[in-house]
Amino acid sequence: MGRLLNELPVGYCPAYSLDSDIEINAQIPENLKRNLDLGLPNVTESDLLRHFTNLSRKNYALSTTFYPLGSCTMKHNLLVSERIAKFNNFTNLHPYQNSKTIQGVLEIMYNLEKDLCEISGMDYFSLQQAAGAHGEFASLLIIAKYFKSIKQKRTKVIVPDSAHGTNPASATLAGFDIVSLKSEPDGSVLPEKLKEILTPEIAAIMLTVPNTLGTFERNIHEISKVVHENGSLLYYDGANLNAIMGVVRPGDMGFDIMHVNLHKTFSTPHGGGGPGSGPVGVKAFLDPFLPVPKIEIAGNEFVLNYEKPKSIGKLKAFFGNFPVLLKAYVYIKSLGAKGLKNASEQAVLNANYMLARFKDKINVPAGNRCMHEFVLAPKASFKSAIKTLDVAKRLLDCGYYAPTVYFPLIVEEAIMIEPTETESKETLDSFVDVLTKIILDEASSEPQKLKDAPVNTAVGRLNEVEAARNPVLRWK
Ligand SMILES: *Cc1c(COP(=O)(O)O)cnc(C)c1O
Repeated sequence: MGRLLNELPVGYCPAYSLDSDIEINAQIPENLKRNLDLGLPNVTESDLLRHFTNLSRKNYALSTTFYPLGSCTMKHNLLVSERIAKFNNFTNLHPYQNSKTIQGVLEIMYNLEKDLCEISGMDYFSLQQAAGAHGEFASLLIIAKYFKSIKQKRTKVIVPDSAHGTNPASATLAGFDIVSLKSEPDGSVLPEKLKEILTPEIAAIMLTVPNTLGTFERNIHEISKVVHENGSLLYYDGANLNAIMGVVRPGDMGFDIMHVNLHKTFSTPHGGGGPGSGPVGVKAFLDPFLPVPKIEIAGNEFVLNYEKPKSIGKLKAFFGNFPVLLKAYVYIKSLGAKGLKNASEQAVLNANYMLARFKDKINVPAGNRCMHEFVLAPKASFKSAIKTLDVAKRLLDCGYYAPTVYFPLIVEEAIMIEPTETESKETLDSFVDVLTKIILDEASSEPQKLKDAPVNTAVGRLNEVEAARNPVLRWK
């Protein structure tokens, strides 16, 4: 197959047709063909349409409801991105095609790398990683290989206790031991405290800016200084880039290496595990370690360079999750530099508006101001045996997707809200009204209503432990 595709003329892109289907079918050897009936039900077109429409209605989605899932940046996804990603010119590509026949695709990826460099202040990017966590893992392999190359034995990585669980998991998977750093009540890191645990064994510290409580790391320059004086590297978890895009850049704050969650900040429908993309950006001194292949220009064409002897190698089949890369590229080009900055500013404004409406009624541990998200600590408001989980379930009955709950771990009964930039004041107001009513009124006056929720959804309250341990995945 690979050889055949390599012989296709430059620019060739097969379009789908029934004829080509029949032709391909004829080429499949008889002994490899299915000989059992597919067992599909015989239904009318109307029944089929109703079946799928009703299935889609059983789900909560951005197209039906507000989705304030903190840390996940569930923002508006442009329809134009979806349409472009579905163009035959992209969907019919084959990963083994000769690079001469995919020059346009390589150009898009090359330009996306450049745009991400400009947005983040890094020098080089690799687009291969399949998600944020995969970007973290790739970065930690790069950090390990870098220290090996300069013959320093550094075996530990510092992770603040406000970090996302993927941070310590990725560092452990890459072979590092974790040193946990107790963060301040607003999730931030004090340089003095950091200094105390910065030993010669520390390879890196992983920081999320703004942190998971929605606070900007005020001492980031001081942190960068003490980390670098110790010979360690500074890693940026880019999940919260939506708060600062176009305003400040991780590269200028002193970060050496980072990932971006394209599906979050740069808009791809995601949830339930994907699809994602977690490009890794580095300062120039780490470029030799980035995964292969690297997209480069040789003469007047784009080429895939596999000759990088210090590279950590290949982490994913082929070149990355291309449809997500493409959607991110469309998003960046549609908004432009001003639009991206405006998106971040609106996201921060929306979050602060909601925070201002909540903070006199429900406890907010990280105070008066936030970046693009904030965390409620409603425990003190619960007069009965109500838990945050009950509040989240009750929200489903009121027509909302529930926010992130029980994260970050440093806030008891946490409810983490991220409105994003694309929601109206009316939507924010009605959500604040409903959540406040549940926590302050219903939890006391009708606690059983919360315990029984949800009753308006396709599936009622699940035994979550049982569902995770013994999932029933078949419908028949
Ligand atoms: C989402 C997230 C991650 C992990 O990213 P995935 O793309 O889900 O793998 C890491 N850190 C933070 C703060 C996040 O919100």
